[in-house]
Amino acid sequence: MKVLKSAKRLTSVIARFKKKGKRIGFVPTMGFLHEGHLSLVRKARRENDIVAVSIFVNPTQFGPHEDYRRYPRHLARDTRLLKREGVDYLFVPSRSSIYPSHFRDYVRPGPLARYLCGPKRPGHFRGVATVVKRLFDIVAPYAAYFGEKDYQQARIIESMVKRFQLPVRIKTSPIVREQDGLAMSSRNRYLSREERISARFLYQALLLARKLVRQQGVRDVRRVKQAVQNVLAPHVTKIDYVAIVHPQTLKPLKRVNHSALIALACYVGRTRLIDNMVVRV
Ligand code: AMP
Repeated sequence: MKVLKSAKRLTSVIARFKKKGKRIGFVPTMGFLHEGHLSLVRKARRENDIVAVSIFVNPTQFGPHEDYRRYPRHLARDTRLLKREGVDYLFVPSRSSIYPSHFRDYVRPGPLARYLCGPKRPGHFRGVATVVKRLFDIVAPYAAYFGEKDYQQARIIESMVKRFQLPVRIKTSPIVREQDGLAMSSRNRYLSREERISARFLYQALLLARKLVRQQGVRDVRRVKQAVQNVLAPHVTKIDYVAIVHPQTLKPLKRVNHSALIALACYVGRTRLIDNMVVRV
């Protein structure tokens, strides 16, 4: 595995492979890797000739009072894990190679950013869309891999690819969970022992929502949301939102008639956790 810091160098290496007709699979990450990330890497490995992974803690997707500075980083360990997965190129750009001083090409995230995490984290999806567009311009992958853990992010990237007509296929993978159901996340590292125990109720709340809809035939979104909140409230510090929305448009639903995305964000201590589940009636 080659570790590259230079965007120019990566672009030229990739161009050579593309000329030979090779398929490049690309997995963008912020590092501090876990099995969720590795599931994307393995899928990319299966489906492509060359696999490139990026590790870049993207400053523009963090709000001013968020955890950019203390976001966990462990490049040596990440490098070992990726080597073991047979990754060809690890791209670790500097801040200035992604955002040169003249950088102006911020990408609007579009209407899907109006919902869920969008209003709670102003500017977040603009930062995400911008960095992913920039990385796609550098890597020019055949396919790029995203996790359903960040469901809204994946939909926003798909819509951006359509809007710019970028020649990349967006592939998504299911959420990888800990044994007790907690969605794996680099931010789980922040949780104390007590918080870690409380954090499992996010998944419990989603399971209850699915049971209400599928087994008990509840269709009224208000009732399902109330039940989810009742599960969460005793265990979390603050519920940021509980939402039941259309899986494609992300618009709030009143009734669950076909399929629905149940999405939630909670603070457990100071740590903001998200989770979601698509429920089909
Ligand atoms: P991050 O490093 O948090 O930016 O995540 C990089 C990619 O890994 C994103 O596409 C995430 O959706 C995905 N990812 C993170 N956690 C998980 C998980 N538990 N299961 C599946 N994919 C994940």
